[in-house]
Amino acid sequence: MTERAFIEVRGAREHNLKNISLNIPKHRITVFTGVSGSGKSSLVFDTVAAEAQRQLNETFTAFVQGFLPHYGQPDVDRVSHLNAPVIINQKRVGGGSRSTVGTYTDIAAPLRLLFSRAGQPSAGPAFAYSFNTPQGMCPECEGIGKTTQLDLDRLLDRTQSLNGGAILHPDFKPGKWLWKTYALSGLFDNDKPVQDYTEQELHLLLHGRDLKVSLGEINMTYEGLVERFERMYLKKDAAAMSDRSRAVFEQFVTSQTCPVCGGARLNAAALASRLEGKNIAELSDLEATELLTFLQGLTDPAAARVAAHLAERLAHLVEIGLGYLSLSRETATLSGGESQRLKLVRHLGNSLTDMLYVLDEPSVGLHPRDVSRLTGLLGALRDKGNTVLVVEHDPDVIRMADHVVDIGPGPGVRGGEVVFEGSIEGLEAAPTLTGRHLTQQLPLKASVREPRGWLSVKGARLHNLKDVSVEIPTGVLTVVTGVAGSGKSTLIHDVFLPQHPDAIVIDQSRVTTNSRSAPATYTGIMDPIRKGFAKASGQSPALFSFNSEGSCPNCAGLGVVYTDLAFMEGISTVCEVCEGKRFKPEVLRHTLRGQTISDVLNMTAETALAFFTEKPVRAVLQAMNDVGLGYLTLGQPLSTVSGGEAQRLKLATELHKKGSVYVMDEPTTGLHLSDIGLLMGIIDRLVDGGNSVILIEHQLDVIRQADWLIDLGPEGGRAGGEVLYSGPPKGLLTCERSVTARYL
Ligand code: ADP
Ligand code: ADP
Ligand code: ZN
Ligand code: ZN
Repeated sequence: MTERAFIEVRGAREHNLKNISLNIPKHRITVFTGVSGSGKSSLVFDTVAAEAQRQLNETFTAFVQGFLPHYGQPDVDRVSHLNAPVIINQKRVGGGSRSTVGTYTDIAAPLRLLFSRAGQPSAGPAFAYSFNTPQGMCPECEGIGKTTQLDLDRLLDRTQSLNGGAILHPDFKPGKWLWKTYALSGLFDNDKPVQDYTEQELHLLLHGRDLKVSLGEINMTYEGLVERFERMYLKKDAAAMSDRSRAVFEQFVTSQTCPVCGGARLNAAALASRLEGKNIAELSDLEATELLTFLQGLTDPAAARVAAHLAERLAHLVEIGLGYLSLSRETATLSGGESQRLKLVRHLGNSLTDMLYVLDEPSVGLHPRDVSRLTGLLGALRDKGNTVLVVEHDPDVIRMADHVVDIGPGPGVRGGEVVFEGSIEGLEAAPTLTGRHLTQQLPLKASVREPRGWLSVKGARLHNLKDVSVEIPTGVLTVVTGVAGSGKSTLIHDVFLPQHPDAIVIDQSRVTTNSRSAPATYTGIMDPIRKGFAKASGQSPALFSFNSEGSCPNCAGLGVVYTDLAFMEGISTVCEVCEGKRFKPEVLRHTLRGQTISDVLNMTAETALAFFTEKPVRAVLQAMNDVGLGYLTLGQPLSTVSGGEAQRLKLATELHKKGSVYVMDEPTTGLHLSDIGLLMGIIDRLVDGGNSVILIEHQLDVIRQADWLIDLGPEGGRAGGEVLYSGPPKGLLTCERSVTARYL
């Protein structure tokens, strides 16, 4: 990796990219703009970052490479002068319940050092204060802070026999392997209800051990239900399980705060050690801003140097708008935007230079006030000698670029070209969609709708909410605003929604139901499309389903074949039999107006709209177009759509309902400025159609289009959690405590 002034991309063709070549300046911040689907991610993540990762991996020995994820070669002639990449995306930080803000950012380490130097009495060297080491962890909960017990009354239906399904966990259902280890052991009368077991039999079922049994061909050692459950589930960290296993598991256990450490995770020696009256668990429970204040007040000279270092790391958290988080907060509970910013904090702490940082919409979840802090931190990364690439739609982030690359002009096949490269001033004067919208601003709505009724929230105190009571209007568009951490999600998701379960949440969680899911099946238009083909060909509709008889037997209708590789991400290759067409050849002999079913699945929603005359199909395609998804093909696997795209796809399928309450969290995520007008048009139609819409948003153009605003604040965390304003938008302008008001 030689030192040159530019990263040179030559002949990039990944996805919709049209053989493009460009130079990206090093040691600068380059922002990539363009409508959604224009090819920004295909260029930045799937070409530049992927190639950087691949080139980096090639520098390792073949042995080490065997343990690294496999990166295929992107479709590009060459990318030169790359640096080692650091990809900072919005994937949640997993890691189970042992992963906290403190451990993840490694800010916990200087805090432990502080206690080992200055804590009284000292518990020992630093690991004595760590809940992830045997020397520091609470012996009862092993550092988890919670204890979990198997609830036998939930696990067993004692009125049933083994054959009748007495063991309620789905992995132990009659016929399953785990069920056989009991039912075929020869130890029980499989038709006897458990309540009729003798004491001995019951003990054998629950706690039996050291017995050799044979299940047909297989000899094994019998293990009682309780021991087996503990070994298989309880000893595992629930947060590290898949969502499905955890949800199942949680039905059979009761979990409580650890009675020994009271949730503090540490052993008695660590908790007895104090600094100015506080132990390490108490300091970890403070919000980052509060912990900073505490450190600034320390007078002990033994603590001064470590405290200064710790304060510097904490300052990064505060600057990036996460000052309301405590070090003890589990990373699994953070939102996508919070996760991305936390990853950034972790990297700000290291002293590596000449890296290639790649960020995906870092402004997600950030109030305009916090966006300016974010841009400051990106500047700091650059000034340390790094190259920073950012995919963004937010005008304030775009404006901080040293260099802009605008991809377009349109989405999908109409995009994939560089339509502008240069300075921000140049972009503002450029005739591209981004250039034109950057200088425009929507005005506050002139006349707002009147509420038709009210949905109330009373005395909410969850997380940071301070006894909040608020009336949310129906029949209008309500936007909930406030700086990050002020309590918007807590109020709407955690308090309002459980009380109003009939509300429809349109969120950014992925919509994959199985690996064959695609927009056509998800939106329900696959049925009328198949019927159209059936009518035109005189065949049965089932023939045209890639889930059944018509599908290619080699790839089962997927079009690709997955190969699992030990130690690596599996790889997928185009199916050799159907060449990716998903169907048997005889199915492809039938056409509808000249197109095969495979051709139709390769159409974008926009192309399909020109092709289909069938009304129900058109309605959905029109809706997909309206939400800015006209560039998606009908057969694109849903596993490849982003969170923002998934959210708009859900919106497109919901548009025909009436009288419902819709809740959406940042629906502008991933949406270009030029598409926001379209999205607002759809939301307006929803409201005009008799629905109520509640949005959590930071995008100022969206806030300005609200009928009703609920502003939370004034700050994040404990300094927030109040309703500062609830009413029509105009009134907010005179609310002095509101940060949002200053930006409108
Ligand atoms: P942007 O980042 O600008 O929103 P993308 O690079 O994600 O755009 O998408 C550009 C085009 O490539 C779109 O038409 C999109 O549907 C398509 N595309 C993106 N990812 C994949 C994929 N994994 N497989 C097939 N097509 C894809
Ligand atoms: P917003 O949506 O306005 O960004 P949140 O509702 O996410 O704010 O957060 C409000 C406060 O509640 C913050 O102090 C945050 O740290 C806290 N909080 C949110 N979720 C959790 C959780 N799962 N556990 C503990 N605290 C939480
Ligand atoms: Zn404990
Ligand atoms: Zn096939």
